[in-house]
Amino acid sequence: MNELHEDLRKAVQKMCSKFSDEYWRKVDANHQYPEEFVNTLTDSGFLAALIPEEYGGAGYGITEASIILEEINRSGGNAGACHAQMYTMGTLLRHGSKVQKEEYLPKIANGNLRLQAFGVTEPDTGTDTTQLKTTAEQKGDRYVVNGQKVFISRSQFSDLMILLVRTTPLKEVQRRTHGLSVLLVDIKKSLGNGMTIRPIRTMMNHATTEIYFDNLEVPVDNLIGEEGKGFHYILDGMNAERILIAAECIGDGRWFVDRATKYAGQRIVFGRPIGQNQGIQFPIARAHVNVEAADLMRYRAAQLFDEGKPCGAEANMAKLLAADASWEAANVALQTHGGFGFAEEYDIERKFRETRLYQVAPISTNLILSFIAEHVLGLPRSY
Ligand SMILES: Cc1cc2nc3c(=O)[nH]c(=O)nc-3n(C[C@H](O)[C@H](O)[C@H](O)COP(=O)(O)OP(=O)(O)OC[C@H]3O[C@@H](n4cnc5c(N)ncnc54)[C@H](O)[C@@H]3O)c2cc1C
Repeated sequence: MNELHEDLRKAVQKMCSKFSDEYWRKVDANHQYPEEFVNTLTDSGFLAALIPEEYGGAGYGITEASIILEEINRSGGNAGACHAQMYTMGTLLRHGSKVQKEEYLPKIANGNLRLQAFGVTEPDTGTDTTQLKTTAEQKGDRYVVNGQKVFISRSQFSDLMILLVRTTPLKEVQRRTHGLSVLLVDIKKSLGNGMTIRPIRTMMNHATTEIYFDNLEVPVDNLIGEEGKGFHYILDGMNAERILIAAECIGDGRWFVDRATKYAGQRIVFGRPIGQNQGIQFPIARAHVNVEAADLMRYRAAQLFDEGKPCGAEANMAKLLAADASWEAANVALQTHGGFGFAEEYDIERKFRETRLYQVAPISTNLILSFIAEHVLGLPRSY
């Protein structure tokens, strides 16, 4: 761990210390967007970690960005409220035109615009992305968008959305990955003009929504990259997403292990700390071991990513190992706290609900295992 990383950790810890357990408990209970936290994170420049300096960002690599998100979750907070801006911005950065980058990136970096929404998932197609049904048909200088998306998080608190649509019908393309395109949608202008957002209440505070498109007009100038190549642009950003989510899970895992250890040392039952019993201390120790092991894969994936080397296998393995380790640690922390683990004021049940998401989103454990089986081990494709 180098000096920059240590300084970065300390700076993020200092910022996070202003947001207490009570703060996160309150926004969770009210299903409220943590505006104050996201604004502070933006003003500190941390949210613009991956935006190059020429556009007003910090110009960091994925390793540094992952440290920022890890520390947010490690502090008891939830980076899920804002993490998407780090990886969705990459689609614009890598594939946007010079004009688009100059127009949007400085405003995203300084907080004038939020790019927090990423519209891929649809109700009828799920993980099978190439089958998505939302279409965009070009009419003059506009695309006319029709369809529906589901579980699109933070769309009510974002100015812009990266939207994946089909621009060439499936039956007219040679490969099912062809004919998909990425549009940059101005959410504020679109609301009431062909786009409707409906919130979905979930078991944790994630500001997720469903979105309906009914002849929404998007300027052709808002197409990112080339028409028909959108699937590859989205895939490009997925390794970054996997590594960043892995780091959040590492932060969660360490938070759970800390809380469990502290409680096990203090809680006296049968005249001695419960942590003196191996039945209590071994599961905590094992959870710690698994979090630390997953962390090594997270750094391995981040290093390869920052060196510009292929890292699909490592990014997926890091995400799987870290999500499993944080979920194991969550279960252990809940068990260690006995009945108090279920009481809101201990925050265990809140973080337990939050970290559970990463078994399913942004990619489920099964789909990672399929990827490893097919692309790393060479087994036949199973779906
Ligand atoms: C809180 C939340 C926030 C989200 N935010 C966003 C967002 O901002 N943007 C966005 O685009 N999406 C978002 N998602 C969607 C998320 O990425 C999907 O839920 C996830 O990819 C799984 O898709 P699905 O729900 O359609 O499940 P399905 O694809 O229907 O799968 C259901 C289950 O079946 C399993 N399964 C499916 N196919 C196979 C197979 N071939 N082999 C083995 N198992 C299989 C899956 O692993 C899963 O467990 C969010 C989801 C949630 C819950």
